[in-house]
Amino acid sequence: MRLPAKVGLPVVLLLWLVGCAINPATGKRQFSLMSEGQEIQMGRDADPEIVASMGLYPDESLQAYVQELGTQLAASSERPDLPWTFRVLDDPLINAFALPGGYIYVTRGILAHFESEAELAGVLGHEIGHVTARHSVSQISKQQIAQFGLGVGMILKPELQEYAGLAGASLQLLFLKFGRDDERQADELGVRYMSRVGYDPVQLSGVMAMLGQVTSDAGGGPPEWLSTHPNPANREQDIIRHANDAEVAMDPAMVKRGEYLPWLDGMTFGENPREGFFEGSNFFHPDMAFQVNFPDGWQTLNSKQAVQAGSPEGDALMGLTLAEGATPSAALSTFLSQEGLESGQPSNAAINGIPAASANFRADTQDGVLQGRVIFLNYNGTMLRFIGFGPADAWQNRRGAVNASLESFRPLRDRTKLDVEPVRLRVVTVSRDMDLATLLNREGIPDRADAVRLLNRIEGNPTLPAGRVLKLPVGGVWQGED
Ligand SMILES: [Zn+2]
Repeated sequence: MRLPAKVGLPVVLLLWLVGCAINPATGKRQFSLMSEGQEIQMGRDADPEIVASMGLYPDESLQAYVQELGTQLAASSERPDLPWTFRVLDDPLINAFALPGGYIYVTRGILAHFESEAELAGVLGHEIGHVTARHSVSQISKQQIAQFGLGVGMILKPELQEYAGLAGASLQLLFLKFGRDDERQADELGVRYMSRVGYDPVQLSGVMAMLGQVTSDAGGGPPEWLSTHPNPANREQDIIRHANDAEVAMDPAMVKRGEYLPWLDGMTFGENPREGFFEGSNFFHPDMAFQVNFPDGWQTLNSKQAVQAGSPEGDALMGLTLAEGATPSAALSTFLSQEGLESGQPSNAAINGIPAASANFRADTQDGVLQGRVIFLNYNGTMLRFIGFGPADAWQNRRGAVNASLESFRPLRDRTKLDVEPVRLRVVTVSRDMDLATLLNREGIPDRADAVRLLNRIEGNPTLPAGRVLKLPVGGVWQGED
């Protein structure tokens, strides 16, 4: 373990947490000069890190369905022999992306918003197009890297613990942006591949309309898809034009709405609170059954890698992550043996009955001297690292709040928190003609109307005919804004 990787990078996170808009730093890489073998190796190296940091959606039959559809589309492409791999990530954000070598990812967030198998095929085809055309990649957003907590290198899901030490360098691939011309070409290739398999290619334009709607609902902020796929003008029109020119392998062309929607029944929708949620500055993790109080007024962030909090002044950061080590004191001594790090007297005192080892430390980093305190806890067989630190000159003022927070780690016993469930999609068939508002009242979800409209491409309060199939977000605790 090198100090910059474990202590240096969180400073980047700190900057982000306090709300500074970091301008994306640009770097250029060209894949076109690479051999196919190198390209495949690059994807193969990055794939486990993407799986570790974002998580696979835990539904094997859904994974197999997307893999099979993707394989069919890729087989119709100019590079059928790549090790094509298609995965559904357990992420609520609306996104899809490709790595060199044929690794393609769609989030459960984007699957929820598709209205047919043809739309899924179109987006998979678009991503396949980025790979088959060997698009050069042009940009790395530092902000996005920071957002992923790379360098912290830790993941808060026990089953992912084996990846806890990864440095994450190849994950930078994930954040490379394609150029606008590449987007146009990928759209055209997406249309080509879906047509060759027999899907109605005009359906891909519906996805673009949906992404545009998400963007305007979000007040103009780009959905994640657009942050990696810049939106050329007239994209919908271009797709329709290509679609009209395309030769579709089947007549009639396949849309497969009725076959697609049942795959979404029961799917987690939005953030999954079982992976941890905040109420004010209090953090609860139902799956791991612990809770922590972070200092009042701090900004907080829960990701798959870490739970983090930053002081409003930006001069202290806390982070809770998975760690490695046979015992808390072994993990602590590994941490304290890092170059450039001095420690105070270690303590083996338990924290709220949990086996623990802790120490104050002082670290010389390229960003100056940091001071802090670290605790390793063995909680129900999982090793955790809970750390707080800041620049040495600010530490006197932050130490009290940080120590109180570090020592607040304790078992979660509140049933109402332990039993929390995520919102899930339910696919329903309208039983008789009724308007949307009536349906939502009957389902007890009048507060979720905007999400229902977006999920089903509905505007206003139309009368829904008997037999219409809809996706409804039901159950759980609603985190939406409407
Ligand atoms: Zn794209």
